[in-house]
Amino acid sequence: MSMFLRSRTNNTLRHLFTHPLFSSSRFIGTLVVAEHEGGSLTAASLSSVAAANKFLSQDNSLSLLLAGSGPSLHDAAANAASCHPSVSQVLVADSDRFKHHLAEPWAKLIHLVQQKDEYSHIVTASSTFGKNILPRAAALLDVSPVTDVIEISDPKTFVRPIYAGNALCTLRYTGSDPCMLTIRTTSFPVAPASPDSKTGAAPIHQVDLSTFGEDGNSKFVKQTSQESERPDLGTARVVVTGGRALKSAENFKMIEKLAEKLGAAVGATRAAVDAGYVPNELQVGQTGKIVAPELYMAFGVSGAIQHIAGMRDSKVIVAVNKDADAPIFQVADYGLVGDLFEIIPELLEKLPEKK
Ligand SMILES: Cc1cc2nc3c(=O)[nH]c(=O)nc-3n(C[C@H](O)[C@H](O)[C@H](O)COP(=O)(O)OP(=O)(O)OC[C@H]3O[C@@H](n4cnc5c(N)ncnc54)[C@H](O)[C@@H]3O)c2cc1C
Repeated sequence: MSMFLRSRTNNTLRHLFTHPLFSSSRFIGTLVVAEHEGGSLTAASLSSVAAANKFLSQDNSLSLLLAGSGPSLHDAAANAASCHPSVSQVLVADSDRFKHHLAEPWAKLIHLVQQKDEYSHIVTASSTFGKNILPRAAALLDVSPVTDVIEISDPKTFVRPIYAGNALCTLRYTGSDPCMLTIRTTSFPVAPASPDSKTGAAPIHQVDLSTFGEDGNSKFVKQTSQESERPDLGTARVVVTGGRALKSAENFKMIEKLAEKLGAAVGATRAAVDAGYVPNELQVGQTGKIVAPELYMAFGVSGAIQHIAGMRDSKVIVAVNKDADAPIFQVADYGLVGDLFEIIPELLEKLPEKK
């Protein structure tokens, strides 16, 4: 590890300086590929930092890689530099080519940084972003990524779910460096810093992109997204989910009203999404989002294994289903056999209006 990485500097943009991409020192450590939003690291990226901390006894260094452009990138870099005392440095790739999260330029960026710094581990979240970029970056680096890690037993041994979460597989990575991982954010809660840990912000270095070359074959065209005041499904404390039993998009509004009163995020089964009641981004499950809220409420959800795979780690599960034998009751902490078209209106009536 080079000398400047051991010392921590004050964290302001005045300290942005060029990453020494062509220096000869080998930098052994873990690289977290981070996402940022509104000038801060996303919750998923903070979970990646928590996961990367598991490697620190061996490596003693943790770098964060952020990319994009504009003031929000610089704010995010400043926040990232002090997000956890274990962070040794923040690498910033400042270019418009990264701001739409296209996999091709991002994978090239990771490749570029790895060629210089030779990290032993590269970690990112199993988010849409991480799942998109990491396999491509792994292909460029000619290694096999390990995906959906839920436990790090040692720097080369990991646990990941298989068969839609019905079995857990412990695997040992025997490939060459870097060992590249996506982690399930629900399994790595953001760790509070220990009281005796170092304080101060890590240095921020700008990645030299002069050798980046062409952007690749993909081009950003446009983005359409739903504006919502509701909490993010992936990180919400409470999730209210509706299934096919809601029968229509109109009826599904009951779920949305209930979520609003509870300050909850809305989720849906794949059957409800396929039927067009709600957009795909609300799907919970094996091929949707993985959630682990404090409270998960499922209305008219049968409890297919592919759905359970996405919510089984919720702290408290409440299920309402008119079939007493529905599989959802096998994972529910509280089950109510009844008709959701009677129960939801009753709940809405009894719950106070949200202030
Ligand atoms: C490869 C693959 C991946 C998949 N990925 C996902 C995934 O990510 N997420 C996901 O959710 N599914 C996924 N599925 C689909 C999954 O197998 C199920 O088909 C789906 O979860 C069923 O959705 P559902 O529970 O809404 O509907 P159903 O299975 O039709 O269940 C409806 C339930 O509502 C109950 N009900 C009916 N009327 C009422 C009423 N009035 N009041 C109360 N209860 C009522 C019924 O008793 C029933 O239990 C996947 C499938 C495959 C093959």
